[in-house]
Amino acid sequence: MNSLDSITVLKGVGPKKADALKKLGIYTLGDLVYTFPRGYEDRRNVCNIADLRENQAAVFVGTVETVVSSGYRGGGFRRPTKMLVSDDTGSIELVFFNSAYLAKTIKSGNQYVFYGKPTLNRGKLQIIHPDFSGIKYADFGILPVYPLVSGISQKDMRKIHKQVEPLYGSLDDILSQDTIERNNLCSLEYAIRNMHAPEDKQKLLEAKYRLIFDEFMVLQTGLAIAKNNSSELKKGIAFDDDNSEDEYINSLPYNLTGAQRRCTNQIMADLVSDKRMNRLVQGDVGSGKTVIAEIAMFKAFKSGYQSVMMAPTEILAKQHYEELTATLSGHGVSVGFLSGSMKAAERREVLAKLKDGSIQVVTGTHALIQPDVEYKNLGLVITDEQHRFGVAQRMRLKDKGDNPNVLVMTATPIPRTLAVILYGDLDVSVVDELPPGRKAIETKLISGSNQSQIEEGRNRCYNFVEKQLAMGHQAYVVAPLIDESEVMDIKSAIEIQEELSQRFKGYKVGLVHGAMKQAEKDQIMELFHKGQINVLVATVVIEVGINVPNATVMVIENSERFGLAQLHQLRGRVGRGKDKSYCFLINAGNSEVSVQRGKIMEASSDGFYIAEEDLKLRGPGEIFGTRQHGIPDLRLADLARHLDVMELVKTEVARILEDDPTLKKEENKPLKMRIESLFGKDYTLDL
Ligand code: ADP
Ligand code: MG
Repeated sequence: MNSLDSITVLKGVGPKKADALKKLGIYTLGDLVYTFPRGYEDRRNVCNIADLRENQAAVFVGTVETVVSSGYRGGGFRRPTKMLVSDDTGSIELVFFNSAYLAKTIKSGNQYVFYGKPTLNRGKLQIIHPDFSGIKYADFGILPVYPLVSGISQKDMRKIHKQVEPLYGSLDDILSQDTIERNNLCSLEYAIRNMHAPEDKQKLLEAKYRLIFDEFMVLQTGLAIAKNNSSELKKGIAFDDDNSEDEYINSLPYNLTGAQRRCTNQIMADLVSDKRMNRLVQGDVGSGKTVIAEIAMFKAFKSGYQSVMMAPTEILAKQHYEELTATLSGHGVSVGFLSGSMKAAERREVLAKLKDGSIQVVTGTHALIQPDVEYKNLGLVITDEQHRFGVAQRMRLKDKGDNPNVLVMTATPIPRTLAVILYGDLDVSVVDELPPGRKAIETKLISGSNQSQIEEGRNRCYNFVEKQLAMGHQAYVVAPLIDESEVMDIKSAIEIQEELSQRFKGYKVGLVHGAMKQAEKDQIMELFHKGQINVLVATVVIEVGINVPNATVMVIENSERFGLAQLHQLRGRVGRGKDKSYCFLINAGNSEVSVQRGKIMEASSDGFYIAEEDLKLRGPGEIFGTRQHGIPDLRLADLARHLDVMELVKTEVARILEDDPTLKKEENKPLKMRIESLFGKDYTLDL
């Protein structure tokens, strides 16, 4: 048995179960070993039936007194099977649905071990679908509860996991014995064993601690190497140190804010040095990051280099293209556009111009990093809204030139401690000041203790929207996000569009959602941009970047389903023009947290403050969901809660990289392999 063996070598895993397991990301025995329980059932203490309590899962031994088997009720419905089970102290009713087979397996008069959570039914405790087994086969330990998919039961999962236990002792350890001892960690084998079958709580904690340490080790070493590669080991391109950027800055119709000036200076210092720039610009929506990017691109142009500006979606890329054409073209810069949906001939022409240097600034989507795209002399790479791009993609983009400067822009404010880790390979600039004269967006929370109150508020809100429409303005309506199910999202968005079309006679209500084809989305956005659509109903696809200054109202339906940071992002779509703008949060749920969130939104427009409050309200796990930030998934480690472990790991990482900066040594091979697999298939440390 080997970690790399396919799961199909296991007993009871045929093609069907293997397919189901793949849905959980489990392909090999090694994957199985590292798929940890999401919780545990404590079956160590056998309970008397008289001591069972509502909602407290417990294990007990009882004799089956009576079985009332399921007969048919009218209409072909089966009745549930009910049993009365007792011990010396009392009895309890057990209920099973759709379980005719039970009558054959469970015999009255026999004793079984049961596990389940009692609930109250008409004043009496009962247990629905308890787990049961014969006394001989019962497990009185702490049992793992694994994540499941359809086609795999908890029992299957436990059996499957049991079979790979022999592997625990022969796993590749990414930590050296030194590191383990210095940090008082348990062995890998001990950790894995106690994750799957903990002997007690203390041992489980030791196990978790060790594995969290491992995860941070992989993450931080990976980021540290990326950073070393990008800045220290390689020289970058130095632009001309001649203040040529002033020409552009002086031509702007406004003065830069203090924050914009500071960031621009930091960027210029990077650009004129021969150290490769690797910088993140963080700033709230509307803080004026785009102009900073333009100044940098203008600087590249003046120094004779090409620039790339990559956006996560086609809509955004198009918008950049229009904006850059409007601003940079006037200074003699030729601006190009490249996307995946272009016609072949068009694309060929752009590629030729990139290669011969007749396009100096190009914007687009992932199409910009395809292998056949060649540049004449790429000097600056800008990615917008970086949380959509992973570290690996960032590296691929920068490999397009001779080590060009890299600038990353994000409008997702992150508390500073975390920024250091999330963007470990980047220097950070913050645009923490809005341009003057910006009117605060008036925000109103609509909530109520019952449905009719909420409906009333909602009605008033749409009356208000209609008035704004009558004034010639436009509005966004964000349809609720329902349980991550795209189908449901679309359904609710369609319903809202129909409702509003009825309501706003004489106005055009458009719809854009995630499952639409790119061309279709673009078309609708275009119409909204031109003012030919008055109200745009959308799922969260509009979250990033869209700029329609004439839109003055943002209505967010079921706002309780969004996190604060997301609400803040959405609200940032309005208030982009000269007119006063409004945001309505229609809170259909009634939880305290969602009301609190709405109050924070009403009171503040400061993205950093909102991010901190979000952290307090939701806890870090949800917000700093690592995937969002282009950082690979961590299973156990939590970027906000485990800062102490992260500190310890930092010391170890420094120690290892000092000795072996690119992990070439044999002893570091397991660590290197884990880094490459954690960061994804495009990621290699052999740069
Ligand atoms: P971000 O990308 O940070 O969300 P933008 O770059 O789109 O913000 O800027 C928002 C708006 O503010 C744009 O219309 C831009 O022209 C304007 N703007 C940027 N900087 C200034 C400034 N210093 N003074 C006045 N207006 C500005
Ligand atoms: Mg922007």
